[in-house]
Amino acid sequence: MANADVEHGPPLLAYTGQPIVDVGVATILAFAQHADAAAVTAADIEDLTEFLIDHYVAGPLKSFMFAMLPNSSYVNPAMSEGARRTASRAFLGMCGQPSDPEAGLCLFCGRQAVGMVFRQHIPLIASQGVINFGPGGRPGVPVCGGCLLATQAFVLGCAIKCEGRALLVHSDDAELTLAFASTFLAENRRSLSLSAAGEEGSVKYPRTLVMRRLAEIDTRHSGPATTGASLTAYHITNYGQSPDIAIYHVPSQVLSFFHTARSEKYRSAWEYVVSAGWVRGKGKAGEAPQAAAGDEPDYSTKNRAFEDLFSAVERWPWYIRKHLLCSVLKADEAIEGGDTAEQRASKLSWELTELFLRKVAGMQKSRIEAIKQCGDRLADVIRDDSNKRLMRSVFVTTRYADFRAVLLKANGARILSGGEPVVTFDDFIAIFESTEDFTPTDWRLARDLLYLRILDSLYKAGWLQGNKEDAEHVLEQIVNTEDEPEARTATPV
Ligand SMILES: [Zn+2]
Repeated sequence: MANADVEHGPPLLAYTGQPIVDVGVATILAFAQHADAAAVTAADIEDLTEFLIDHYVAGPLKSFMFAMLPNSSYVNPAMSEGARRTASRAFLGMCGQPSDPEAGLCLFCGRQAVGMVFRQHIPLIASQGVINFGPGGRPGVPVCGGCLLATQAFVLGCAIKCEGRALLVHSDDAELTLAFASTFLAENRRSLSLSAAGEEGSVKYPRTLVMRRLAEIDTRHSGPATTGASLTAYHITNYGQSPDIAIYHVPSQVLSFFHTARSEKYRSAWEYVVSAGWVRGKGKAGEAPQAAAGDEPDYSTKNRAFEDLFSAVERWPWYIRKHLLCSVLKADEAIEGGDTAEQRASKLSWELTELFLRKVAGMQKSRIEAIKQCGDRLADVIRDDSNKRLMRSVFVTTRYADFRAVLLKANGARILSGGEPVVTFDDFIAIFESTEDFTPTDWRLARDLLYLRILDSLYKAGWLQGNKEDAEHVLEQIVNTEDEPEARTATPV
């Protein structure tokens, strides 16, 4: 290997768009502590190769390698440890070899390949001897030295043993891919150096894990989530008869929302939504993740506010109802043993909701403005006239026709007393029926948004604090109104 390196230099590393290769390249860069692939030296590759052999062939990672690369030289049960080391060194030495014209072009990057590989070398490709999908009618996948090395190193840049699988995170923003790979590599190196016993705490809920890590990365790096990038997590196993992959995608609009929600203006409101999303025991929401010894959080905990971000673009009205409205109103009971209604209402945030509407739902500014204004006027009527009957009607009504009637009545009362209508005809259309494919369930979204705005307004005006019984009553109504989660999917707005 050393001779080959001197003669041919280190294998060329490049991002290809293929997640395993890209995460592998990022892992090698993080391992060698270079920002640029061109800076990786033959000595870096030597160090990496020895590290891979040490940890894949023996030690706590070996059992996991059975799930990643069964039948590879790293774990071949028919070989002694010494023989596995020798065979693995020879296999990894392929990366520094001159290309083999017989093998053709690398499937991942198009450069000359150094040889053909199979499922024991790269997860989730065809096994040796299987001709299906083999380019040129030959079994196996042609691969160049750089891509081959990346596919061997990627495991170290994943969250390993996440429900028994590897979780790799890939983005069209290379900086973000690198940030995830470095984070996971650092964790894996730490746990490999610590775990003589080899069994650290279980890692569950890949979606929660991705968002937790993203929050940490977003704090350390100022920009990766602002570039319009998306990210995709691949949760894979290459084990025996049941190789499998689950794919979790975070679209760019959600990434952008997540990034902005963590900025100073929205942070406390967003953190409250997140804290309300933790699930403990029998589905009880509202508790923060348990801290283990030191400050290490418990990674067997699920966060619904995080998990549901992955489907937030398709189910945004439901996300608003569940996480920005109901969970927040319920959460304090669990966290602090029962806050008053107005304290719970104080945690609702119209600003955060508006950010979500703009970023994730893509709602037009004029529609948001109309909802805001209608909410404010309803709050005015409730507050100025102490119109508790109106308040109860607004929050109790569960049918669209009734809700419309309540608004019409409020309009009439306002006009009779010389005020402006609560909602104009145009605004009414904009709020409730603006979408071309309007369905009767759409009104619930507008209703939930009005609730958020009215409560926000009444709290800021101090009205809820002075009318505790009414506040308690309406909050109960809101959280107890069960709408079907699938009431409405993505809506053009
Ligand atoms: Zn290649």
